[in-house]
Amino acid sequence: MKACVLNSYNQFDWMEVQDPSIKNDEVLIRTSFASICGSDQHIFSGEFHPRTQLPLIPGHEFAGRIIETGADVRNFSPGDRVAIDPIIWCGKCPACEIHHYPACTSLRLLGVDLHGGFGEYVVARPNMLYKLTPNITDQQGALVEVLGIGFHACNRAGIKPGDSVAIWGTGKVGHCILQAVKTKTDGQVFLIDLIDERLQKARKGYPDVTTINPLREDPLAVIREKTNGRGVDVAFEAAGHDTSGGATLNPVRGCIQVIRGAGKLCVLGLGDDPAPILFKELIWKEANIIASRVSHGEFSEVIKHLDQGNLKPDLLVSDVFTADQVQEAFELLETSPEKHLKILLSFQDL
Ligand SMILES: [Zn+2]
Ligand SMILES: [Zn+2]
Repeated sequence: MKACVLNSYNQFDWMEVQDPSIKNDEVLIRTSFASICGSDQHIFSGEFHPRTQLPLIPGHEFAGRIIETGADVRNFSPGDRVAIDPIIWCGKCPACEIHHYPACTSLRLLGVDLHGGFGEYVVARPNMLYKLTPNITDQQGALVEVLGIGFHACNRAGIKPGDSVAIWGTGKVGHCILQAVKTKTDGQVFLIDLIDERLQKARKGYPDVTTINPLREDPLAVIREKTNGRGVDVAFEAAGHDTSGGATLNPVRGCIQVIRGAGKLCVLGLGDDPAPILFKELIWKEANIIASRVSHGEFSEVIKHLDQGNLKPDLLVSDVFTADQVQEAFELLETSPEKHLKILLSFQDL
């Protein structure tokens, strides 16, 4: 088969590799579309070294069609279109013992710790597969995983109907949180980002949200005014770091300041720098900080909402490249991140 192989950091090659083969409890999938994740960009540039072992076929957000099933596989047949949950948990650690799989201390992902979906074929186990309904296109199937991140964050934060929400950072993850939030509450939603293009994109899909660029407006003042001094029920931190170089409020501290008393802060941004938290701001509110990582069974919830037309997956896609253009796609994401949310790689008709 052919695959996008990361042979050295910053260098993909579209090349012939050995065909994968399946065991009795596995299925072979022909990839249709894969989506490029922020984590893939970190893998590409070497920031995941030494966790990532090269050469690697990345790809943990993808969909495809089953072409072969092992002798012991039930419930799936060749021809089924599926989205693939890339998570493999150990089943033995203290988190796994209480079925809290996203916190598995030996968590492995297809496309990060072993070869993933950036190839024409990929092997997976049936417990990782979710059937797509006829209403869901192959392209949309490749977005189930990342939309699941948004739903998992909402479920971790316990979003209820009527809740008001602030989302700090409207890149890929922040945007998926927005889509999930809008299925769960009709309360006020505030989006905070330094990049106007991203805020515009969100407003295009959801005209009723309030967008705030901290380079021009104080998020705290705007949210206070629009909530009559109350603050929001839940704030999501999906920025990861302060890219203004200290010119604006740090995202984590901002989230603490904009929630109401006894509100919740859900953190997802994977920044490397410590966040400047003033604990008394948190203590006075007796607020909760909740962390959210990957997803845990939210694939079914996403597929239900995609099937019913409750999400706007196409809003996430800024471009589709054929898989042999993988190097070009990654370079584009590096050089003009403000213009792009998701770039999809097509493995069809190659
Ligand atoms: Zn991802
Ligand atoms: Zn575990």
